[in-house]
Amino acid sequence: MESVTAALSSELLERHFGYKTFRPQQQEIIEHVLAGNDAVVLMPTGGGKSLCYQIPALALDGLTVVISPLIALMKDQVQALQGNGIPAAFMNSSLGYAEEQAISEQLHKGELKLLYLSPERLFAQNVMDWISGLNVRLFAIDEAHCISSWGHSFRPEYKKLNAIKKRFPNVPVIALTATADRAVRGDIARHLGLKNERMFVSSFDRPNLSLAVLPGVDRWKAIERIMARHAGKCGIIYCGSRDATEKLATKLQKIGVRADHYHAGRSSEERNEVQDEFISGKLHVICATIAFGMGIDKSDVRFVIHYNLPGNVESYYQEIGRAGRDGKPAETILFYSYADVQGQMYHIDKVEDPQYKAILTAKLERMKEFAEAQVCRRTILLSYFSETTAEPCGNCDVCKDPPKYFNGTLTGQKALSAVVRCKEQLSMSVLIDVLKGTRSQEVLENKFDTVKTFGAGGDTSAFAWMMFIQQMIQHGLLEIDYKAHYHLKVTDAGQAVLRGERQVRLVSPDTIKERQERSKKTPVAMAAEPSHASADLLQRLKDLRKVIAKEIAKPAYIVFSDATLIDMAVKKPADVYEFRLVNGVGDHKVKVYADRFLAEISAVRTVPV
Ligand code: ADP
Ligand code: ZN
Repeated sequence: MESVTAALSSELLERHFGYKTFRPQQQEIIEHVLAGNDAVVLMPTGGGKSLCYQIPALALDGLTVVISPLIALMKDQVQALQGNGIPAAFMNSSLGYAEEQAISEQLHKGELKLLYLSPERLFAQNVMDWISGLNVRLFAIDEAHCISSWGHSFRPEYKKLNAIKKRFPNVPVIALTATADRAVRGDIARHLGLKNERMFVSSFDRPNLSLAVLPGVDRWKAIERIMARHAGKCGIIYCGSRDATEKLATKLQKIGVRADHYHAGRSSEERNEVQDEFISGKLHVICATIAFGMGIDKSDVRFVIHYNLPGNVESYYQEIGRAGRDGKPAETILFYSYADVQGQMYHIDKVEDPQYKAILTAKLERMKEFAEAQVCRRTILLSYFSETTAEPCGNCDVCKDPPKYFNGTLTGQKALSAVVRCKEQLSMSVLIDVLKGTRSQEVLENKFDTVKTFGAGGDTSAFAWMMFIQQMIQHGLLEIDYKAHYHLKVTDAGQAVLRGERQVRLVSPDTIKERQERSKKTPVAMAAEPSHASADLLQRLKDLRKVIAKEIAKPAYIVFSDATLIDMAVKKPADVYEFRLVNGVGDHKVKVYADRFLAEISAVRTVPV
């Protein structure tokens, strides 16, 4: 039999959010928290973490305080809650005195259900004292990985959050994150001082996302092909620099793609506009730095491309996670080159704290392992999040086309010997020059053209050598000395190969090339909009949403999400009761929007097609 809290939370879900069922784990988490217990929640981005504390906030008689590190995210959440008629507010450095006063008054009258605070705000002046005078029933710590120095975005103020449990020992704390490997998980509970907490780990697997890594050569050609495959569909291209986002967007516009760029250097008005146009479907492709995507709720992103290598697996996973939230097939592609690794190392080198530097380096190493993998990429990705998979996924480039190996001992020996003869003073590109017998400037300056192995690999293409050397690094035969001009060093294992004591297994570049060719020809299964939804109606609903968003000066998704509009276009409600049955329509939104959307639907209905 359903427990009382279970029935209550289902009722709240339906009434306020218009959702008919909980997603996996949500209900369990909610019941656990409502019973007064602490929890750590690990759920992938888009999994539905917010409801895990918003429903308890509605069920509890008192205030829920949410600690959130990002001002933009806070604002989105509060707007979304208000959009559903739930009294909520945020306090952070962006507010003026008068606004804060007004909120504090509402709080003292007990009028707010949720208060979002930045950690800085919590520890400023005597906010802690002040909130202890309010009836706080629950604390939620969002983006909880920021507490761990192993997290990719460590925030020192997060370390001080242990003060919460000390000050409010009887108030339950729920910590939530989308990105936590095993080390971070342990840190979260420990640093917050949680008591008998339960850890809820949702599966991080997103089987509808295909995974592929392409060598970072001829990126533009590859992108043109991808654009052709996804013509008219929405996607994000993450670039390593602001400059790259601009150049790429311009190039895309020239081939007729509705593209724009997004980075922290643009004004907030421009950024909001780009974001809104992307969400409403007016723009198809956003070329962006990592500044883009936080809190964006767009379900029909069909591809995410990484133009450059991300610095760690968590970021990569979070970014590709923005594709295919509607559960339909979506494609993710990562371009990988050594130049990108070097670019990342360059940034890491500037970090002063040696411990932090070591962490960043280790994380980059994991990212490289993923990019260079010759085994199922999903297996590697999930194992990063401590999940084990029984079988290869069948939806990544390695699974679709497993590599064929050949005995590459002789090839390997040539490269290793060249490195030794040039006294380990070569970067990868110069090593390729030496093997190919190219008299480049570096070669001549260092007299590498006089060593015995000069030109020993002339019959192999430069591309092939690059692939071989990368694999040798991956096998641990060569390593890159990041501190010494990225020169290659021969490892002990490499020495063993030179002495003939160890064999080398390589994948031929032809196989890699063929694989690329094949991937060009096999289009991904494209997801169509639900066939029974009239495209025309959907467009009209989107237009109406845009008009309303302008009127209330809020982003479009605050009105309704794409998923809700699609459901609306499918169900074509004829009256308020039917309107209430659309997924994502709660009581409040019926009140404020039903009339206008119903009018739009009935207008389309009466027009003969
Ligand atoms: P996260 O914080 O985990 O990234 P959110 O809490 O923002 O994810 O939820 C992602 C989207 O899924 C939101 O649009 C949210 O309204 C929606 N969602 C969450 N739970 C449910 C549910 N039980 N049914 C339908 N939609 C849901
Ligand atoms: Zn796979």
